[in-house]
Amino acid sequence: MRIPEDKIEEIRNTSNIVDIISGYVQLKKRGKNFVGLCPFHQEKTPSFTVSEEKQLFKCFGCNVGGNVFSFLMEYKNISFVEAVEEVAESLGIKINYQQQSFSDPSGLEELYEINTIAAKYFSSNLFNSDEGETARNYLKKRKIKPQVQRSFGLGYAFSEWEHFLQFAKDNNINIAKAKQLGLIDTKDNGGFYDKFRGRIIFPIFSPNGRVIAFGGRILDPSAKTAKYLNSPESPIYLKRRSLYGLYHSKDEIRKLDKAVLVEGYMDLIALFQQGIKNVVASSGTSLTTEQVQLLSRYTKNIIVLFDADSAGQAAASRSIEILLKQNFEVKVVTLPEEHDPDSYINEFGKTEFENLLNNAKNFLEYQTEKFKKQGDLDDPQRETEAIRELVRIISFIEDPLKRNIYIKSISRKFGLREKLIESELERFFSQNRSRQTGSNQQRFKQSVNGIKTDSKIREVENKFEKEIIILLLEGIEEVMDIIFDHILPEEFINPVYKHVAKIIFENYKKDVFSPSIIVEQIEDETIKDFVLSLSLNNDTISTRYGDDFTSKEVTQKNLIKYADDIAMRYKVLKIDEQLEMNRKKIASGISEEEILELLKLNSELEKEKKTMLEEHNGK
Ligand SMILES: [Zn+2]
Repeated sequence: MRIPEDKIEEIRNTSNIVDIISGYVQLKKRGKNFVGLCPFHQEKTPSFTVSEEKQLFKCFGCNVGGNVFSFLMEYKNISFVEAVEEVAESLGIKINYQQQSFSDPSGLEELYEINTIAAKYFSSNLFNSDEGETARNYLKKRKIKPQVQRSFGLGYAFSEWEHFLQFAKDNNINIAKAKQLGLIDTKDNGGFYDKFRGRIIFPIFSPNGRVIAFGGRILDPSAKTAKYLNSPESPIYLKRRSLYGLYHSKDEIRKLDKAVLVEGYMDLIALFQQGIKNVVASSGTSLTTEQVQLLSRYTKNIIVLFDADSAGQAAASRSIEILLKQNFEVKVVTLPEEHDPDSYINEFGKTEFENLLNNAKNFLEYQTEKFKKQGDLDDPQRETEAIRELVRIISFIEDPLKRNIYIKSISRKFGLREKLIESELERFFSQNRSRQTGSNQQRFKQSVNGIKTDSKIREVENKFEKEIIILLLEGIEEVMDIIFDHILPEEFINPVYKHVAKIIFENYKKDVFSPSIIVEQIEDETIKDFVLSLSLNNDTISTRYGDDFTSKEVTQKNLIKYADDIAMRYKVLKIDEQLEMNRKKIASGISEEEILELLKLNSELEKEKKTMLEEHNGK
């Protein structure tokens, strides 16, 4: 059963985001927007912003944002359909459900659907098949109860090579899409085979509870293949942005305002089963900045709980750095050598485990103790290096007060003057700063998946591109008319702007102008975030072009005139760049013939520019 598209449209158009959010968050008018204390992270000064004009919200503290439906989905932990239903009910709109499938222009719904069907298939293999018995026995041995297995959607993949493939064919699953999701793969001689075989299956959920990928653990320990196999990245699964278990644990994390970070699926499930439910797992990969940002929507307090082996301890150290950079309050628990979280809680039980968590050390004590154990503090040379390392870690903390407390603590511990530590800290600061600028640029470049970004291209990015995107996001039809009359999305140089312009253009062609609908269609979180920031910034098209728009409220009429102006400036700049490029070519020693060609081209460009300026000024 589906809600018809036009009904969703009606509900979206009738609802007012400010009214709906006001039911949950106290909002105050500030400038054009409304602000309040963010319900998704802890804060004392409001950075949660709602725009009535654009029907969008965004928190500038934790980066949650979207339209009215995304707010309800995030706040109440419900699906898109449920959010639509809830808004409809509050407006008294009756929904006539549709039997047929609805349009899925991006094709993403089909991918989710295939994963859901596959997850059910794996689960049925685990619980209902003969071959599944080995898997059932394994999970029994690991003390995972059947109801917990079910709530985490655990499953089993048969050891045959084409069992899922046959199942997929019988159920009319699109094989190319199943391959894209990494459920099947192509043989060298053509034909397909199952990617997951003889493995316990752990579905990976999005924070909203949709199956986005699978992890598979091999059952037969003598099998000559990787112990763990994960789905590849796909349009619905970005590894560095998903945290295993978050869907199950986010409410508890929010409630306790604290999360426990473990390494593996089994650790997480074991803790969860014993009643420690505020857990997430980095699942093998080292923790990423994106994962930490995701988690920061729920809490800023974390206890890192990794295995005592050297790999686990190294991963813990890396994670601590990333967490500190994102302003987390970090504590660390070290388990006895022979244990992992799974074995520890199964042997000692919940209370003992909670004691362990309550006695977690702050990262500085943890690190110092680690150095001590390694004998680093017995030798003056190594001690200096160890202290330097501690100062380096502290340099990631942004809060100066907190930093100062740690400086004092180091000074006491090692009998050093605070001034000395501060000057060392200063050194790391300047290093961090130069590194940070680099990594921000890196992130911006990486943010558009599959879109080629070349630093050389970025240098000649037209300086009006950003302004044009901001204008398009005003959601005014006439403004869009003017812009798209002059400029097509393909012309944008900056890949991010180009990507956004394309999405806006696709909607425009369908007579959709509202930014709140457009935002819903942006899959890439970084780009979505970026677009929300652009459209919710109070100071969008204001003082920079001063004279024409001294009034605070930029009226629609002004905007239309402004759009016309910007489109013209954009064109002129483009011509100027072309002229300049041709001039350089001419100077670079090319053939007589080519020079003549370019000169002719340039004079035409000059003419075009002149006509354009005259027309514009004549208006
Ligand atoms: Zn927030």
